[in-house]
Amino acid sequence: MRINCPLCGARDSREFHYRGSAKLIDRPLPEQGRAAMFDYVYIRDNPAGVTRELWHHRNGCRAWLVVARDTTSHKILSVELAADRGRVRS
Ligand SMILES: [Zn+2]
Repeated sequence: MRINCPLCGARDSREFHYRGSAKLIDRPLPEQGRAAMFDYVYIRDNPAGVTRELWHHRNGCRAWLVVARDTTSHKILSVELAADRGRVRS
């Protein structure tokens, strides 16, 4: 599998490290309560189909990426920098 890093271009997936669902970018705020934090830490989906995942270009530019991938075919649909997808806090 090849991942098209926005900064480095297409690279072998062995240069990257899978870090879980891209939902982890949106950590709950303290005012959302303990149940929201419990779900954030312990509850994981395991969908068949298109998912958004966090990947770290560990052996490259070290950027964090959000990769949209179909888990049934491993086809990568899009790759973007995680910094562009993070929540903006004031
Ligand atoms: Zn890179």
